[in-house]
Amino acid sequence: MERENVWKKYQKKDEINKVHSFANGYKEFLSNCKTERECTKYFEKKAQSRGFISIEEAIKKNKKLKTGDRIYATNMGKEIALFVIGKEDICNGMNILGAHIDSPRLDLKQNPLYEDSDMALLDTHYYGGIKKYQWVTIPLALHGTIAKTDGTTVDFVIGEKDDDPVFCITDLLIHLSADQMSKEAKKVIEGEDLNVLIGSIPYGDEIKNDKEKKQLINKNVMNIIIEYFNNIDKENGNKKYDYREEDFMSCEVEVVPAGKARDMGVDRSMILGYGHDDRVCSYPTFEAVCRAKNPKRTVCGLLVDKEEIGSVGATGMNSRFFENTVAELINLCTDYSDLLLRRTLSNSFAISSDVSGAYDSIYGSAFEKKNSAYLGKGFAVNKYTGARGKSGSNDASAEYMGKIRSIFEENDIYYQTCELGKVDQGGGGTIAYIFGNYNMNVIDGGVAVLSMHAPYEVISKVDLYEAYKAYIAFAMKA
Ligand code: MN
Ligand code: MN
Repeated sequence: MERENVWKKYQKKDEINKVHSFANGYKEFLSNCKTERECTKYFEKKAQSRGFISIEEAIKKNKKLKTGDRIYATNMGKEIALFVIGKEDICNGMNILGAHIDSPRLDLKQNPLYEDSDMALLDTHYYGGIKKYQWVTIPLALHGTIAKTDGTTVDFVIGEKDDDPVFCITDLLIHLSADQMSKEAKKVIEGEDLNVLIGSIPYGDEIKNDKEKKQLINKNVMNIIIEYFNNIDKENGNKKYDYREEDFMSCEVEVVPAGKARDMGVDRSMILGYGHDDRVCSYPTFEAVCRAKNPKRTVCGLLVDKEEIGSVGATGMNSRFFENTVAELINLCTDYSDLLLRRTLSNSFAISSDVSGAYDSIYGSAFEKKNSAYLGKGFAVNKYTGARGKSGSNDASAEYMGKIRSIFEENDIYYQTCELGKVDQGGGGTIAYIFGNYNMNVIDGGVAVLSMHAPYEVISKVDLYEAYKAYIAFAMKA
């Protein structure tokens, strides 16, 4: 089925400027929020400025929720749920938009620092599915949080400001790569070799300790890092803390591509940036939920962590956080019972919003053309995801797919149906099946991405805008 390019729609409506202006807001978000913590902080602050109050505050004030009220809840600083209370009884179900805010990256190990041949390096363990060879020789930044033993925490970013230093993982020169070039792609750069080069000047003052004498670069690097953190503490008015190398143990440092998201193409139709998966769905989800005023059914936006490693842990979709938060919400709306919670969840409708691999003509043989998502062809709906015989898929019912189609068609949303690549070529999962566990209707849908999971991914601005429109239609009309 041939679908019209979505740019045509906005050309006809003379609304191309709206597409670019929405994309500008997204680009700024993508440039500044490269970790799940940074995304959560950004959304929390913006939600507060748009009239959302925290669920703790509502509970403390024993607030009885009414139509139009706006509530949010965060979990350990790494995920956020937002709700706009609808006119109907919450137990009739909610319209839920779920997306994830974690992206593939490199994490520092708990004991990362070492010195070899007068160079100081940081050892990493990669997070999520990456082609390791893509992460060498590009500028990298460190985004982290240190939990100190005095109970306070410090957030930091090194490598994003114009005058910041950046970091890099080196590669072997081509002249000496006879062995490396004959390796399989997955072994060209191995996980244990993803080590970030961070310094090369030795400590300058006299040292008596023999062990330290052999680690002069490390010592100098640690001194600079400690001075850096002392300065942050001073700026923030924190009390003086005695930083040690051991503090890496209670640190979360994410190594990500440095620099801003950029317009791409002479027509500026696309955005090249790190972390489109899945912030390109998270951002329009958040904006759509904020736009919901007095909806018929309660609208929920859920932005979770840990999708890239199987939705595990307290901040992943498999955690009880979402269910517990909905229980609290029901308790603020009506007399709570376990039965009402179960009814609310099973009566809900959801879109699990995640990216889809866009058809790439250079690698056409990996795709099946008539069931692929295309850049610029609108909101990409996957009835099912999964791999090797739909394994791990939610597989939405034909009836629910019919409902989604009717909402999109009535609201002039351009959409396409797709699955990820050719059968048995690979595949992937999302958080959809976890919504499905509550016995609710859920379908996968999102934005098509080129070079998915690469350090820099590509999306079309018009697909982003159409996703935003699709989310509004779903939130208000489902
Ligand atoms: Mn994803
Ligand atoms: Mn992914």
